[in-house]
Amino acid sequence: MIPVFDGHNDTVLQHLDDPARDFFARHDDGHLDAVRAAEGGLVGGFFAVYTRSPAVGARYQDAIEAAGLSKPTPLGAIDPTDAVRNTNAAVATILGWAADPEGRFRVARSVAELEAAMADGVMAGVLHFEGAEAIGPDLAALDVYHAAGLRSLGPVWSRPNLFAEGVPFAYPSSPDTGPGLTAHGRALVRRCNELRIMIDLSHINERGFWDVAALSDAPLVATHSNAHAICPSARNLTDEQLAAVRASQGVVGLNFAVAFLAPDGRFDRAMPLEVMVRHVDHLVDKLGIDGVALGSDFDGAGIPDAIGDVTGVQRLLEALREAGYDQEALEKIAYRNWLRVLRLTWGG
Ligand SMILES: [Zn+2]
Repeated sequence: MIPVFDGHNDTVLQHLDDPARDFFARHDDGHLDAVRAAEGGLVGGFFAVYTRSPAVGARYQDAIEAAGLSKPTPLGAIDPTDAVRNTNAAVATILGWAADPEGRFRVARSVAELEAAMADGVMAGVLHFEGAEAIGPDLAALDVYHAAGLRSLGPVWSRPNLFAEGVPFAYPSSPDTGPGLTAHGRALVRRCNELRIMIDLSHINERGFWDVAALSDAPLVATHSNAHAICPSARNLTDEQLAAVRASQGVVGLNFAVAFLAPDGRFDRAMPLEVMVRHVDHLVDKLGIDGVALGSDFDGAGIPDAIGDVTGVQRLLEALREAGYDQEALEKIAYRNWLRVLRLTWGG
């Protein structure tokens, strides 16, 4: 079994909904817990801290599925007070896992810590914020969260905030859907560079992407996005964006969400693995084999039944092997490329 380090999950949301839920127990619902992660070979990943838009309810994917993907509800900015409260609860939940008396989970703040956790057989999470609404214009909270372990941040989710504007989940649509970084957004990018916090571009609109590309001194990274050339969702990356990621030695994590995989934009979980292989082929063509990784979106999106949950992730690697990827290429996609870009971004 090839170890997998994954670019994105929303698992902490389930624990905010149900504080009694045990991360270290096996569950039948959701996509990811510590037991099923071990069964699937998942050794770690980025754990997202995200505050829902109140208009959307529990599951945005379910909402857009019901509404029809081509006409997503435009989402407004959320109340920063709600974001602070939710963010602190989510960070505390993840730190709680890391305080497990049996030592079954660690928050990794460096590549050395990631590698040590892998060597020790302990699951490692990177603390990631999906949207920076909990951070005010003085950026003081960024320093506080960095001290708490924050090492990856997407300035926006798919809505506007103080810093930038996110892409709606529109299909078919260009990702060029609005204005780029604000002055606060530029300050946020500079401070992330100083603190060596990875900047995630998965939910930012195209102008924001290019603003970050012009400003940031770190590799360009989209933790959970796919190829716009295959599935023309606003959430996916155009070939021009992929070329910029490649030029920066960055990485794109393949998103397992059927909404961002399906060429026809239909929300159908009965999708063959071949569609995921097509996206990987395209991403490898545009990024090179060192630029493609995994970013499942477990517990945040509807994923193909052929994967099911984290226990099915090896089936994707097997499909890629059958499509011609050798052991070295599979290991790069499964975890080595994340370690490479994190080493470049974080140092050490
Ligand atoms: Zn996301």
